[in-house]
Amino acid sequence: MRPVVRTTSLFIDGSWSAAADGRERIVTNPFDASDLATVAEASTADVDRAVRSARAAFDVGAWAHAPVARRAAVLTATADALQEHREELARLETLDTGKTLAESRFDVDDSTSVLRYYAALATTEAGRTVDTGRPDAVSRVVHEPVGVCALITPWNYPLLQITWKLAPALAAGNTVVAKPSEVTPLTTVRLFELLQAGLDEAGAPAGTANLVTGGGPAGAALAEHPGVDLVSFTGGLATGRSVMRAAAETVKKVALELGGKNPNIVFADTDLDTAVDYALTAAFLHSGQVCSAGSRLLLQRGRHAEFVAELARRADRIRLGDGLAKGTECGPLVSAEHRAKVERHLAGALAEGAVLRAGGVRPDQAELQAGHFLRPTVLTECHPGMAVVREEVFGPVLTVELFDEEDEAVALANDTPYGLAGAVWTNDAGRAERVAQRLRLGTVWINDYHPYVPQAEWGGFKQSGTGRELGPSGLREYQETKHVWRTLNPAPQYWFAD
Ligand code: NDP
Repeated sequence: MRPVVRTTSLFIDGSWSAAADGRERIVTNPFDASDLATVAEASTADVDRAVRSARAAFDVGAWAHAPVARRAAVLTATADALQEHREELARLETLDTGKTLAESRFDVDDSTSVLRYYAALATTEAGRTVDTGRPDAVSRVVHEPVGVCALITPWNYPLLQITWKLAPALAAGNTVVAKPSEVTPLTTVRLFELLQAGLDEAGAPAGTANLVTGGGPAGAALAEHPGVDLVSFTGGLATGRSVMRAAAETVKKVALELGGKNPNIVFADTDLDTAVDYALTAAFLHSGQVCSAGSRLLLQRGRHAEFVAELARRADRIRLGDGLAKGTECGPLVSAEHRAKVERHLAGALAEGAVLRAGGVRPDQAELQAGHFLRPTVLTECHPGMAVVREEVFGPVLTVELFDEEDEAVALANDTPYGLAGAVWTNDAGRAERVAQRLRLGTVWINDYHPYVPQAEWGGFKQSGTGRELGPSGLREYQETKHVWRTLNPAPQYWFAD
Protein backbone atom coordinates (compact mmCIF):
# COMPACT_ATOMS: atom_id res chain seq x y z
CA MET A 1 0.00 0.00 0.00
CA ARG A 2 1.31 3.43 -0.96
CA PRO A 3 -0.16 6.44 0.85
CA VAL A 4 -1.90 8.92 -1.38
CA VAL A 5 0.06 12.01 -2.26
CA ARG A 6 -1.83 14.69 -0.40
CA THR A 7 -0.69 18.24 -1.12
CA THR A 8 -4.01 19.61 0.15
CA SER A 9 -3.45 18.43 3.71
CA LEU A 10 -4.54 21.63 5.43
CA PHE A 11 -8.06 21.30 6.82
CA ILE A 12 -9.20 24.84 7.54
CA ASP A 13 -12.70 26.19 7.93
CA GLY A 14 -14.25 22.90 6.90
CA SER A 15 -12.36 22.31 3.66
CA TRP A 16 -9.07 20.89 2.45
CA SER A 17 -6.49 23.12 0.84
CA ALA A 18 -2.84 23.49 -0.12
CA ALA A 19 -0.56 25.95 1.65
CA ALA A 20 -1.26 29.55 0.66
CA ASP A 21 2.24 29.92 -0.76
CA GLY A 22 2.10 26.46 -2.36
CA ARG A 23 4.96 25.06 -0.29
CA GLU A 24 5.09 21.28 0.21
CA ARG A 25 7.11 18.75 2.13
CA ILE A 26 8.00 15.17 1.26
CA VAL A 27 7.36 12.60 3.98
CA THR A 28 9.69 9.60 3.94
CA ASN A 29 9.64 6.00 5.16
CA PRO A 30 12.31 5.50 7.86
CA PHE A 31 12.68 1.84 6.87
CA ASP A 32 14.23 2.58 3.48
CA ALA A 33 14.26 6.41 3.20
CA SER A 34 11.86 6.19 0.22
CA ASP A 35 9.35 8.97 -0.42
CA LEU A 36 5.91 8.21 1.01
CA ALA A 37 3.78 11.25 0.39
CA THR A 38 3.79 14.98 -0.13
CA VAL A 39 1.95 17.22 2.30
CA ALA A 40 1.32 20.94 2.48
CA GLU A 41 3.82 23.00 4.46
CA ALA A 42 1.73 25.55 6.36
CA SER A 43 2.98 29.11 6.54
CA THR A 44 2.21 31.65 9.26
CA ALA A 45 -0.64 32.91 7.04
CA ASP A 46 -2.18 29.43 6.97
CA VAL A 47 -1.90 29.15 10.75
CA ASP A 48 -3.54 32.53 11.11
CA ARG A 49 -6.42 31.48 8.85
CA ALA A 50 -6.90 28.28 10.86
CA VAL A 51 -6.92 30.13 14.20
CA ARG A 52 -9.38 32.73 12.88
CA SER A 53 -11.66 29.96 11.67
CA ALA A 54 -11.47 28.15 15.04
CA ARG A 55 -12.08 31.46 16.82
CA ALA A 56 -15.17 32.22 14.76
CA ALA A 57 -16.52 28.70 15.23
CA PHE A 58 -16.01 28.95 18.97
CA ASP A 59 -17.39 32.44 19.39
CA VAL A 60 -20.63 31.68 17.57
CA GLY A 61 -21.30 29.23 20.42
CA ALA A 62 -23.02 26.51 18.41
CA TRP A 63 -20.38 23.92 19.29
CA ALA A 64 -19.47 25.13 22.77
CA HIS A 65 -23.10 25.05 23.85
CA ALA A 66 -24.23 22.09 21.78
CA PRO A 67 -25.81 19.28 23.78
CA VAL A 68 -22.97 17.18 25.14
CA ALA A 69 -24.54 14.11 23.55
CA ARG A 70 -24.06 15.68 20.13
CA ARG A 71 -20.37 16.31 20.75
CA ALA A 72 -19.99 12.81 22.19
CA ALA A 73 -21.61 11.39 19.04
CA VAL A 74 -18.82 12.93 16.93
CA LEU A 75 -16.21 11.14 19.05
CA THR A 76 -18.12 7.86 18.87
CA ALA A 77 -18.51 8.14 15.09
CA THR A 78 -14.76 8.80 14.79
CA ALA A 79 -13.98 5.83 17.04
CA ASP A 80 -16.16 3.61 14.84
CA ALA A 81 -14.40 4.93 11.74
CA LEU A 82 -10.97 4.21 13.25
CA GLN A 83 -11.97 0.61 13.86
CA GLU A 84 -13.43 0.30 10.37
CA HIS A 85 -10.13 1.55 8.93
CA ARG A 86 -7.94 -0.10 11.58
CA GLU A 87 -5.66 -2.00 9.24
CA GLU A 88 -5.25 0.90 6.82
CA LEU A 89 -4.34 3.28 9.67
CA ALA A 90 -1.98 0.78 11.28
CA ARG A 91 -0.10 0.25 8.01
CA LEU A 92 0.08 4.00 7.41
CA GLU A 93 1.48 4.55 10.91
CA THR A 94 4.09 1.85 10.37
CA LEU A 95 5.14 3.29 7.02
CA ASP A 96 5.45 6.76 8.53
CA THR A 97 7.12 5.94 11.87
CA GLY A 98 8.87 2.61 11.25
CA LYS A 99 7.26 0.95 14.27
CA THR A 100 5.99 -2.62 13.94
CA LEU A 101 2.48 -3.32 12.73
CA ALA A 102 1.59 -4.86 16.10
CA GLU A 103 2.50 -1.57 17.80
CA SER A 104 0.57 0.47 15.23
CA ARG A 105 -2.52 -1.69 15.70
CA PHE A 106 -2.24 -1.11 19.42
CA ASP A 107 -2.06 2.66 18.77
CA VAL A 108 -5.23 2.58 16.66
CA ASP A 109 -7.04 0.57 19.34
CA ASP A 110 -5.82 2.88 22.10
CA SER A 111 -6.94 5.94 20.12
CA THR A 112 -10.35 4.32 19.68
CA SER A 113 -10.65 3.63 23.41
CA VAL A 114 -9.69 7.19 24.29
CA LEU A 115 -12.36 8.61 21.95
CA ARG A 116 -14.96 6.32 23.50
CA TYR A 117 -13.81 7.11 27.04
CA TYR A 118 -14.19 10.88 26.59
CA ALA A 119 -17.49 10.47 24.72
CA ALA A 120 -18.80 8.69 27.83
CA LEU A 121 -17.12 10.89 30.43
CA ALA A 122 -18.32 14.15 28.91
CA THR A 123 -21.95 13.07 29.19
CA THR A 124 -21.58 12.53 32.95
CA GLU A 125 -20.41 16.11 33.50
CA ALA A 126 -23.06 18.11 35.34
CA GLY A 127 -21.03 20.42 37.54
CA ARG A 128 -21.99 20.64 41.21
CA THR A 129 -24.17 22.74 43.47
CA VAL A 130 -22.64 24.47 46.45
CA ASP A 131 -24.22 25.35 49.78
CA THR A 132 -24.62 29.15 49.95
CA GLY A 133 -25.74 29.14 53.58
CA ARG A 134 -28.75 31.18 52.49
CA PRO A 135 -32.24 30.01 51.68
CA ASP A 136 -32.64 32.72 49.03
CA ALA A 137 -29.55 31.94 46.98
CA VAL A 138 -28.32 29.01 44.94
CA SER A 139 -24.83 28.47 43.74
CA ARG A 140 -23.35 26.08 41.22
CA VAL A 141 -19.95 25.36 39.78
CA VAL A 142 -19.86 24.42 36.10
CA HIS A 143 -17.16 23.56 33.61
CA GLU A 144 -17.04 25.29 30.26
CA PRO A 145 -14.72 25.01 27.27
CA VAL A 146 -11.55 27.13 27.32
CA GLY A 147 -11.93 28.33 23.73
CA VAL A 148 -9.51 27.81 20.85
CA CYS A 149 -6.99 25.07 21.61
CA ALA A 150 -3.74 24.50 19.73
CA LEU A 151 -2.80 20.81 19.77
CA ILE A 152 0.86 20.21 18.92
CA THR A 153 2.13 16.63 18.74
CA PRO A 154 5.48 14.80 18.29
CA TRP A 155 6.54 12.20 15.75
CA ASN A 156 6.75 9.05 17.84
CA TYR A 157 3.04 8.31 18.53
CA PRO A 158 1.30 10.50 15.94
CA LEU A 159 -2.21 9.04 15.91
CA LEU A 160 -2.33 8.26 19.60
CA GLN A 161 -0.99 11.63 20.75
CA ILE A 162 -3.38 13.71 18.65
CA THR A 163 -6.32 11.59 19.82
CA TRP A 164 -5.36 12.04 23.48
CA LYS A 165 -5.75 15.80 22.91
CA LEU A 166 -8.51 15.98 20.32
CA ALA A 167 -10.98 13.74 22.18
CA PRO A 168 -11.15 15.70 25.47
CA ALA A 169 -10.81 19.07 23.71
CA LEU A 170 -13.81 18.45 21.44
CA ALA A 171 -15.80 16.66 24.17
CA ALA A 172 -15.47 19.77 26.33
CA GLY A 173 -16.77 22.02 23.53
CA ASN A 174 -13.55 23.70 22.40
CA THR A 175 -12.55 24.33 18.84
CA VAL A 176 -9.08 23.24 17.82
CA VAL A 177 -6.13 23.71 15.51
CA ALA A 178 -3.95 20.60 15.38
CA LYS A 179 -0.34 20.52 14.22
CA PRO A 180 1.33 17.11 13.94
CA SER A 181 5.07 16.72 13.57
CA GLU A 182 6.36 17.45 10.09
CA VAL A 183 8.15 14.08 10.27
CA THR A 184 5.06 11.85 10.68
CA PRO A 185 1.85 13.71 9.75
CA LEU A 186 0.07 11.05 7.68
CA THR A 187 -2.25 9.35 10.19
CA THR A 188 -3.29 12.72 11.59
CA VAL A 189 -4.37 13.79 8.10
CA ARG A 190 -6.32 10.54 7.75
CA LEU A 191 -7.86 10.99 11.20
CA PHE A 192 -9.15 14.41 10.20
CA GLU A 193 -10.70 12.94 7.06
CA LEU A 194 -12.57 10.47 9.26
CA LEU A 195 -13.43 13.12 11.85
CA GLN A 196 -14.87 15.39 9.17
CA ALA A 197 -17.77 13.00 8.52
CA GLY A 198 -18.73 13.01 12.20
CA LEU A 199 -18.52 16.80 12.44
CA ASP A 200 -20.66 17.24 9.33
CA GLU A 201 -23.22 14.76 10.62
CA ALA A 202 -23.42 16.68 13.93
CA GLY A 203 -23.81 20.01 12.14
CA ALA A 204 -20.70 21.40 13.81
CA PRO A 205 -19.69 24.84 12.51
CA ALA A 206 -16.94 24.92 9.87
CA GLY A 207 -13.75 25.61 11.78
CA THR A 208 -14.58 23.42 14.78
CA ALA A 209 -11.53 21.27 14.03
CA ASN A 210 -8.68 22.54 11.87
CA LEU A 211 -5.45 20.87 10.82
CA VAL A 212 -2.21 22.50 9.72
CA THR A 213 0.66 20.33 8.54
CA GLY A 214 4.03 21.98 8.75
CA GLY A 215 7.24 22.35 10.68
CA GLY A 216 8.31 23.99 13.93
CA PRO A 217 7.54 27.55 12.76
CA ALA A 218 3.86 26.59 12.34
CA GLY A 219 3.89 25.30 15.93
CA ALA A 220 5.58 28.47 17.15
CA ALA A 221 2.99 30.58 15.30
CA LEU A 222 0.24 28.72 17.12
CA ALA A 223 1.89 29.13 20.53
CA GLU A 224 2.20 32.87 19.92
CA HIS A 225 -1.15 33.55 18.28
CA PRO A 226 -3.37 35.86 20.34
CA GLY A 227 -6.47 34.04 19.06
CA VAL A 228 -5.41 30.82 20.83
CA ASP A 229 -6.57 30.31 24.44
CA LEU A 230 -4.77 27.08 25.30
CA VAL A 231 -1.75 25.22 23.95
CA SER A 232 -1.51 21.52 24.58
CA PHE A 233 1.95 20.41 23.57
CA THR A 234 3.71 17.06 23.59
CA GLY A 235 7.34 17.04 22.61
CA GLY A 236 10.86 17.71 23.79
CA LEU A 237 11.84 19.74 26.85
CA ALA A 238 13.57 22.56 24.94
CA THR A 239 10.58 23.03 22.61
CA GLY A 240 8.23 22.86 25.60
CA ARG A 241 10.11 25.73 27.26
CA SER A 242 9.84 27.80 24.12
CA VAL A 243 6.09 27.07 23.86
CA MET A 244 5.67 28.17 27.48
CA ARG A 245 7.57 31.41 26.81
CA ALA A 246 5.53 32.16 23.68
CA ALA A 247 2.27 31.41 25.48
CA ALA A 248 3.19 33.76 28.32
CA GLU A 249 2.71 36.81 26.11
CA THR A 250 -1.08 36.42 26.13
CA VAL A 251 -1.22 34.24 29.28
CA LYS A 252 -2.53 31.21 27.44
CA LYS A 253 -3.24 28.09 29.39
CA VAL A 254 -0.47 25.59 28.76
CA ALA A 255 -0.44 21.81 29.08
CA LEU A 256 2.95 20.23 28.48
CA GLU A 257 3.85 16.56 28.11
CA LEU A 258 7.61 16.55 27.79
CA GLY A 259 10.36 14.00 27.94
CA GLY A 260 11.52 11.51 30.53
CA LYS A 261 14.62 9.75 31.81
CA ASN A 262 12.76 6.91 33.35
CA PRO A 263 14.18 4.60 36.02
CA ASN A 264 13.44 0.89 35.97
CA ILE A 265 14.45 -0.30 39.46
CA VAL A 266 15.08 -4.01 39.90
CA PHE A 267 15.67 -5.48 43.37
CA ALA A 268 17.59 -8.73 43.63
CA ASP A 269 14.60 -10.70 44.94
CA THR A 270 12.83 -10.42 41.56
CA ASP A 271 12.53 -13.33 39.15
CA LEU A 272 15.43 -12.72 36.79
CA ASP A 273 13.87 -13.98 33.57
CA THR A 274 10.75 -11.85 34.04
CA ALA A 275 12.63 -8.68 34.97
CA VAL A 276 15.07 -9.08 32.05
CA ASP A 277 12.16 -9.62 29.70
CA TYR A 278 10.41 -6.45 30.84
CA ALA A 279 13.64 -4.45 30.95
CA LEU A 280 14.02 -5.15 27.22
CA THR A 281 10.47 -4.02 26.42
CA ALA A 282 10.84 -0.99 28.69
CA ALA A 283 13.97 0.16 26.88
CA PHE A 284 13.63 -1.01 23.29
CA LEU A 285 9.93 -0.82 22.38
CA HIS A 286 9.69 1.40 19.27
CA SER A 287 13.52 1.51 19.32
CA GLY A 288 13.41 3.44 22.59
CA GLN A 289 11.61 6.38 20.95
CA VAL A 290 9.08 6.45 23.76
CA CYS A 291 8.77 9.26 26.30
CA SER A 292 8.29 6.72 29.09
CA ALA A 293 11.04 4.33 27.90
CA GLY A 294 12.79 2.64 30.81
CA SER A 295 16.14 3.93 29.64
CA ARG A 296 17.81 3.80 33.07
CA LEU A 297 18.05 0.34 34.57
CA LEU A 298 18.87 0.49 38.28
CA LEU A 299 20.02 -2.96 39.39
CA GLN A 300 20.53 -4.09 42.96
CA ARG A 301 23.94 -5.66 43.51
CA GLY A 302 23.70 -9.41 43.99
CA ARG A 303 22.82 -11.22 40.79
CA HIS A 304 23.57 -8.18 38.67
CA ALA A 305 26.32 -9.82 36.63
CA GLU A 306 24.02 -12.67 35.65
CA PHE A 307 21.23 -10.17 34.93
CA VAL A 308 23.39 -8.03 32.64
CA ALA A 309 24.73 -11.06 30.77
CA GLU A 310 21.19 -12.27 30.06
CA LEU A 311 20.03 -8.77 29.15
CA ALA A 312 22.88 -8.34 26.66
CA ARG A 313 22.36 -11.81 25.19
CA ARG A 314 18.70 -11.13 24.55
CA ALA A 315 19.26 -7.56 23.29
CA ASP A 316 21.64 -8.98 20.70
CA ARG A 317 18.88 -11.30 19.46
CA ILE A 318 16.27 -8.59 18.84
CA ARG A 319 15.24 -8.81 15.19
CA LEU A 320 15.37 -5.47 13.37
CA GLY A 321 13.52 -4.98 10.13
CA ASP A 322 10.61 -3.59 8.18
CA GLY A 323 7.76 -2.81 10.56
CA LEU A 324 5.35 -4.29 8.00
CA ALA A 325 7.20 -7.63 7.87
CA LYS A 326 6.24 -10.61 10.01
CA GLY A 327 8.88 -11.39 12.61
CA THR A 328 10.22 -7.85 12.95
CA GLU A 329 10.61 -6.92 16.60
CA CYS A 330 12.06 -3.41 16.23
CA GLY A 331 11.94 -0.90 13.43
CA PRO A 332 14.38 1.87 12.54
CA LEU A 333 14.83 5.26 14.16
CA VAL A 334 12.61 7.91 12.66
CA SER A 335 15.20 9.79 10.60
CA ALA A 336 18.86 9.96 9.67
CA GLU A 337 19.21 13.15 11.76
CA HIS A 338 17.70 11.48 14.79
CA ARG A 339 19.97 8.43 14.48
CA ALA A 340 22.98 10.73 14.22
CA LYS A 341 21.88 12.43 17.45
CA VAL A 342 21.53 9.08 19.24
CA GLU A 343 24.96 8.01 17.97
CA ARG A 344 26.46 11.24 19.33
CA HIS A 345 25.00 10.41 22.75
CA LEU A 346 26.50 6.94 22.48
CA ALA A 347 29.96 8.21 21.55
CA GLY A 348 29.83 10.65 24.46
CA ALA A 349 28.87 7.84 26.86
CA LEU A 350 31.78 5.66 25.76
CA ALA A 351 34.15 8.63 26.08
CA GLU A 352 32.86 9.12 29.64
CA GLY A 353 33.68 5.51 30.55
CA ALA A 354 30.52 3.53 29.83
CA VAL A 355 31.15 -0.06 28.77
CA LEU A 356 29.36 -1.47 25.76
CA ARG A 357 27.69 -4.82 26.50
CA ALA A 358 25.37 -5.06 23.48
CA GLY A 359 24.71 -3.19 20.25
CA GLY A 360 26.24 0.24 19.81
CA VAL A 361 26.46 -0.28 16.06
CA ARG A 362 24.33 -0.16 12.95
CA PRO A 363 23.15 -3.59 11.79
CA ASP A 364 25.14 -5.21 9.01
CA GLN A 365 22.29 -6.86 7.02
CA ALA A 366 22.23 -5.56 3.45
CA GLU A 367 18.46 -5.02 3.47
CA LEU A 368 18.70 -2.62 6.43
CA GLN A 369 21.35 -0.29 5.05
CA ALA A 370 18.95 2.27 3.56
CA GLY A 371 17.00 2.59 6.82
CA HIS A 372 17.95 4.48 9.98
CA PHE A 373 18.71 1.43 12.11
CA LEU A 374 20.78 1.12 15.27
CA ARG A 375 21.25 -2.11 17.25
CA PRO A 376 19.67 -2.19 20.74
CA THR A 377 22.45 -1.04 23.02
CA VAL A 378 23.28 -1.89 26.64
CA LEU A 379 25.82 0.23 28.52
CA THR A 380 27.20 -0.68 31.95
CA GLU A 381 29.51 1.15 34.41
CA CYS A 382 27.12 4.10 34.21
CA HIS A 383 26.64 6.72 36.92
CA PRO A 384 24.47 9.83 37.36
CA GLY A 385 27.30 12.19 36.40
CA MET A 386 27.21 10.98 32.80
CA ALA A 387 25.28 12.89 30.16
CA VAL A 388 23.84 9.62 28.82
CA VAL A 389 22.25 8.99 32.22
CA ARG A 390 20.93 12.52 32.64
CA GLU A 391 19.75 13.46 29.15
CA GLU A 392 16.94 11.95 27.15
CA VAL A 393 18.52 9.94 24.31
CA PHE A 394 15.19 8.85 22.78
CA GLY A 395 16.76 5.84 21.10
CA PRO A 396 17.63 2.18 21.78
CA VAL A 397 20.21 2.92 24.47
CA LEU A 398 19.86 1.39 27.94
CA THR A 399 22.19 2.46 30.76
CA VAL A 400 22.79 0.23 33.78
CA GLU A 401 23.57 1.62 37.25
CA LEU A 402 24.06 -0.46 40.42
CA PHE A 403 22.81 0.14 43.95
CA ASP A 404 22.89 -1.63 47.32
CA GLU A 405 20.02 -0.31 49.43
CA GLU A 406 16.46 0.89 48.91
CA ASP A 407 17.28 4.49 49.87
CA GLU A 408 20.06 4.58 47.32
CA ALA A 409 17.75 3.28 44.59
CA VAL A 410 15.19 6.00 45.34
CA ALA A 411 17.85 8.71 45.42
CA LEU A 412 19.33 7.57 42.10
CA ALA A 413 15.88 7.32 40.48
CA ASN A 414 14.90 10.81 41.58
CA ASP A 415 18.24 12.37 40.65
CA THR A 416 17.03 13.80 37.33
CA PRO A 417 15.19 16.92 36.21
CA TYR A 418 12.55 14.67 34.68
CA GLY A 419 9.68 12.90 36.45
CA LEU A 420 7.54 11.11 33.90
CA ALA A 421 7.40 7.38 34.63
CA GLY A 422 9.28 4.40 36.01
CA ALA A 423 9.00 1.00 37.60
CA VAL A 424 9.99 -0.93 40.68
CA TRP A 425 10.48 -4.71 40.64
CA THR A 426 10.45 -6.65 43.90
CA ASN A 427 8.63 -9.51 45.60
CA ASP A 428 8.45 -7.51 48.81
CA ALA A 429 5.05 -5.79 48.72
CA GLY A 430 5.92 -3.36 51.50
CA ARG A 431 9.08 -2.26 49.76
CA ALA A 432 7.24 -1.90 46.46
CA GLU A 433 4.70 0.47 48.02
CA ARG A 434 7.36 2.43 49.93
CA VAL A 435 9.44 2.97 46.82
CA ALA A 436 6.41 3.81 44.66
CA GLN A 437 5.41 6.46 47.18
CA ARG A 438 8.85 8.07 47.19
CA LEU A 439 9.39 8.18 43.42
CA ARG A 440 8.78 11.66 42.00
CA LEU A 441 7.09 10.35 38.86
CA GLY A 442 3.71 10.80 37.20
CA THR A 443 3.37 7.04 36.65
CA VAL A 444 4.86 4.21 38.70
CA TRP A 445 4.55 0.60 37.63
CA ILE A 446 5.06 -2.13 40.23
CA ASN A 447 6.29 -5.38 38.69
CA ASP A 448 5.33 -4.25 35.20
CA TYR A 449 6.33 -1.69 32.59
CA HIS A 450 4.40 0.44 30.09
CA PRO A 451 0.71 -0.42 30.64
CA TYR A 452 -1.78 2.42 30.94
CA VAL A 453 -5.52 2.89 30.52
CA PRO A 454 -7.56 5.88 29.31
CA GLN A 455 -9.18 6.17 32.76
CA ALA A 456 -5.86 6.90 34.53
CA GLU A 457 -4.02 10.21 34.27
CA TRP A 458 -0.77 10.47 32.31
CA GLY A 459 1.82 13.22 32.74
CA GLY A 460 4.98 14.26 34.46
CA PHE A 461 6.37 15.67 37.68
CA LYS A 462 9.18 18.23 37.55
CA GLN A 463 10.40 19.14 34.04
CA SER A 464 8.45 16.32 32.40
CA GLY A 465 5.57 18.71 32.07
CA THR A 466 2.57 20.46 33.49
CA GLY A 467 -0.98 19.15 33.58
CA ARG A 468 -2.28 15.70 32.78
CA GLU A 469 -3.70 13.85 29.83
CA LEU A 470 -6.19 10.98 30.06
CA GLY A 471 -8.54 10.36 32.97
CA PRO A 472 -10.90 13.00 34.33
CA SER A 473 -7.99 15.48 34.66
CA GLY A 474 -7.42 15.13 30.92
CA LEU A 475 -10.87 16.62 30.35
CA ARG A 476 -10.35 19.34 32.98
CA GLU A 477 -7.30 20.60 31.05
CA TYR A 478 -9.70 21.77 28.38
CA GLN A 479 -12.22 23.36 30.70
CA GLU A 480 -12.61 26.61 32.56
CA THR A 481 -14.36 26.47 35.90
CA LYS A 482 -17.17 28.94 36.46
CA HIS A 483 -19.06 29.73 39.64
CA VAL A 484 -22.65 30.88 39.07
CA TRP A 485 -24.39 32.48 42.06
CA ARG A 486 -28.08 33.29 41.87
CA THR A 487 -30.08 35.29 44.38
CA LEU A 488 -33.72 34.35 44.11
CA ASN A 489 -35.52 37.44 45.42
CA PRO A 490 -33.05 40.35 45.37
CA ALA A 491 -33.84 43.32 47.63
CA PRO A 492 -31.68 46.28 48.79
CA GLN A 493 -29.24 45.28 51.51
CA TYR A 494 -28.19 48.84 52.56
CA TRP A 495 -24.54 48.03 53.13
CA PHE A 496 -24.08 51.75 52.59
CA ALA A 497 -26.66 53.82 54.36
CA ASP A 498 -29.14 55.56 52.03
P1 NDP B 1 9.76 18.30 19.39
O1 NDP B 1 9.75 19.05 20.64
O2 NDP B 1 10.88 18.49 18.44
O3 NDP B 1 8.44 18.57 18.53
C1 NDP B 1 7.15 18.40 19.05
C2 NDP B 1 6.18 19.19 18.19
O4 NDP B 1 6.44 20.59 18.35
C3 NDP B 1 6.29 18.91 16.71
O5 NDP B 1 5.02 19.02 16.11
C4 NDP B 1 7.19 20.05 16.24
O6 NDP B 1 7.09 20.33 14.88
C5 NDP B 1 6.65 21.19 17.08
N1 NDP B 1 7.55 22.32 17.25
C6 NDP B 1 8.86 22.43 16.94
N2 NDP B 1 9.34 23.65 17.30
C7 NDP B 1 8.29 24.32 17.87
C8 NDP B 1 8.14 25.60 18.46
N3 NDP B 1 9.16 26.45 18.55
N4 NDP B 1 6.95 25.95 18.95
C9 NDP B 1 5.90 25.10 18.90
N5 NDP B 1 5.98 23.86 18.34
C10 NDP B 1 7.16 23.46 17.83
O7 NDP B 1 9.61 16.78 19.80
P2 NDP B 1 9.77 15.52 18.89
O8 NDP B 1 8.77 15.56 17.78
O9 NDP B 1 11.21 15.38 18.56
O10 NDP B 1 9.29 14.36 19.88
C11 NDP B 1 10.11 13.77 20.78
C12 NDP B 1 9.91 14.35 22.16
O11 NDP B 1 8.55 14.22 22.56
C13 NDP B 1 10.70 13.61 23.19
O12 NDP B 1 11.38 14.49 24.03
C14 NDP B 1 9.65 12.84 23.96
O13 NDP B 1 10.02 12.53 25.26
C15 NDP B 1 8.49 13.74 23.89
N6 NDP B 1 7.26 12.99 24.12
C16 NDP B 1 6.62 13.11 25.32
C17 NDP B 1 5.49 12.37 25.62
C18 NDP B 1 4.80 12.49 26.93
O14 NDP B 1 3.69 11.99 27.06
N7 NDP B 1 5.36 13.13 27.92
C19 NDP B 1 4.95 11.44 24.63
C20 NDP B 1 5.68 11.40 23.40
C21 NDP B 1 6.80 12.16 23.18
P3 NDP B 1 8.09 19.60 13.86
O15 NDP B 1 8.25 18.18 14.29
O16 NDP B 1 7.37 19.69 12.59
O17 NDP B 1 9.37 20.35 13.95
